[in-house]
Amino acid sequence: MATAFITGIGGQDGGYLAEALLADGHQVHGLLREQDRPSGPDAADLTGAHLHVGDLTDQAGLAALLTEVEPDEIYNLGGISSVAQSWAQPLATGEVSGLAVAGLLQSALELADRLGRRVAVLQAASAEIFGDPAASPQDEDTPLRPLNPYGAAKAYAHHLVGVYRGRGLAASSVILYNHESPRRPAAFVTRKITRAAAEIARGQANELALGNLAARRDWGWAPDYADAMIRAARAEQPGDYVIATGEAHSVAEFVAAAFAAAGIADWRRYVRVDPAFVRPVDAVELVGNPAKARAELGWAPTVRFDEVVARMVRADLG
Ligand code: GDP
Repeated sequence: MATAFITGIGGQDGGYLAEALLADGHQVHGLLREQDRPSGPDAADLTGAHLHVGDLTDQAGLAALLTEVEPDEIYNLGGISSVAQSWAQPLATGEVSGLAVAGLLQSALELADRLGRRVAVLQAASAEIFGDPAASPQDEDTPLRPLNPYGAAKAYAHHLVGVYRGRGLAASSVILYNHESPRRPAAFVTRKITRAAAEIARGQANELALGNLAARRDWGWAPDYADAMIRAARAEQPGDYVIATGEAHSVAEFVAAAFAAAGIADWRRYVRVDPAFVRPVDAVELVGNPAKARAELGWAPTVRFDEVVARMVRADLG
């Protein structure tokens, strides 16, 4: 039975990951901020996990916790997860999603040396490290060209994982494309859309204000991405892995699919573009090639775009 330590256990991915590891009989410890305790009808069931309230930027506190827990696997999912928020808090984004990873990797290396055994580290990177990509679809060799503070912080952390791998640490980085579920907060466009579609279908709202409808993203099913993280952490050879479906859809296509799933044929009647939601710079299209993950981890997405949308709308319709 492995002991796992998950930072950001209170988030969408931390919840699915913890549930998968607990179901497999593993010991799970998680770090979260007090305000991130999951709540609500679709919340993760973290019964059985040992929760530690703390902050990723408290390097000494984090190091002490790792010394106490002695994990076999460390999953770093904590941090500012929204691109929009990273423009409002660029410094905090750099500290939490970038610099804190240096402390975590160093602590993991020291722990592995002291215990004389493998301590695997899994870093949750993001497609946003590619920003304005030189190639489409992107793979593990695509140059990093972030467009926002979030992508830049994640790019730094991604490089650091490679640096510590060079020191012999079993550190892997999964480059996660957008992955959604009914647990997605409404700060993300998918949940904002499915929630609005359900409210409009129930007659509780009559308008949805959005930003860039032409942006194209590779949207997958969050639990599939948690499964990829476990496979990557346990791979014999640590490395970088693109985790994606390989299919891109526009925000407008997401809206159309969500409204159709809620029984509304003419979505254009309800959607208004509000410049307040249009980002100063926005990746035009991000789509990943998961061939390496398929070949080396035996991973493949199990839920496709239409079904991701349908499941989210169904949950919001209640
Ligand atoms: P993230 O950018 O990967 O963190 O994911 P989001 O779900 O926040 O955004 C995905 C895409 O949807 C981006 O290209 C946004 O510019 C676009 N988008 C369009 N309208 C909105 C909106 O109202 N809210 C958000 N969050 N994104 C929007």
